[in-house]
Amino acid sequence: MADSKEDFLSNPAIIENYSFLQSLGVFAYINELNQEIHHFKKLLAGAAEVFNQTSIDDILHATFWQISDRFLPSFIVFLWRPHQNKPDVTVKAYKNYKQVDLLLEIDSISRMEPFFQQNRQPIKYKLLRRHIEDTRDNSFKSLDTLSPELVVPILGPSGRLYGIILVGGKLLEDVYTQRELDFLNRIMSFVSQAIQNHLHYERSVRDVKTGLFNYGFFITRLNEEIAWTNRKEQEASLIVIDVDKFKSFNDTYGHLAGDKVLESIAQVIKQSVRIEDVPCRFGGEEFIILLPSTDRDTAFITAERVRNAIASMTVAWTQPLPQVTISLGVFTFNMHTNLTTEEIIRRADEALYQSKSNGRNRTTAACPRGLFYRAQQLEKKPPLKR
Ligand code: GH3
Ligand code: MG
Ligand code: MG
Repeated sequence: MADSKEDFLSNPAIIENYSFLQSLGVFAYINELNQEIHHFKKLLAGAAEVFNQTSIDDILHATFWQISDRFLPSFIVFLWRPHQNKPDVTVKAYKNYKQVDLLLEIDSISRMEPFFQQNRQPIKYKLLRRHIEDTRDNSFKSLDTLSPELVVPILGPSGRLYGIILVGGKLLEDVYTQRELDFLNRIMSFVSQAIQNHLHYERSVRDVKTGLFNYGFFITRLNEEIAWTNRKEQEASLIVIDVDKFKSFNDTYGHLAGDKVLESIAQVIKQSVRIEDVPCRFGGEEFIILLPSTDRDTAFITAERVRNAIASMTVAWTQPLPQVTISLGVFTFNMHTNLTTEEIIRRADEALYQSKSNGRNRTTAACPRGLFYRAQQLEKKPPLKR
């Protein structure tokens, strides 16, 4: 067997029988097979690219490049259902290779789900229109303004519609061939697998109610951080948070209002920390944040930022809700701390306990030898005595 196509073709026996092989169509066939190989290599490279991404946004972005590189479409729009149980839709649109803002009057793609459960492959919009007219199915009406050339579903294994991709007409040629549709279909099965993997991973590390990291993931990250600070001249900090008087809040306004408040607190925490920080729901109405490479002063400032943001947060509910406050405890550790994971958490907890016993709605930072308090409750000053 020859090592390469060139060696194979320069084989004297091949040259001798060239005309005969040519007349049999052998070379044309080899060419065709080579094209197939090239096609599958591209598909595999595309799949690897999509699988290498670590967020849904990046997966969609990589998918955009896979489609754009091959077809030069006039636009690509992703309609994406961001959360499992939430109906709203995220729109991500690209025109001329740039991400653009697009206002689409579409609030849900779930009504399209039954259609794509029956028709799992990319479909030309022309055919979809025929279906719409035949069945008077108006779930796709909102797509009319865009008038895409192709509609590509991204489906999970149980037929769940994660999202759809609208692909505009080609800039250079006219129609999408069957082979191109096959390619899209294949790459989409990789995309939906990559999305599923990501969702499963997210589900295993996140708290369902708040979307923050869960206890298990947090402990793993904390252990890693302790190991890291033991090797390097680095500090890291913990902030533990407990909602003040939450039992009486629940008793007065109900558990559902309480849940809504916990979700809002989680959002504020997420927005108040850096991307490398690890905010976690520790359980019940308790939260904990790991701040890698962060000294005590910075952790303290961060904790106060969170506390103030919560103290001025408004939560929309069926009835007006009172302001909720939180108490916080900060503990900072480094290679000299010499405490176990549990002890480190306990030290932060002790600082939190001091915040509670000193009146709540405040931050206390612990230092290696006992506690010290630098936080003053940021209350409105009492009116001046006249
Ligand atoms: P303190 O200021 O001392 O922390 O008072 P507290 O009432 O917040 O403290 P305690 O630990 O006695 O009560 C915590 C309450 O938090 C009990 C429970 O009603 C509420 N809680 C815990 N988890 C949840 C939850 O997931 N949802 C709701 N709505 N409430 C929760
Ligand atoms: Mg508590
Ligand atoms: Mg509490």
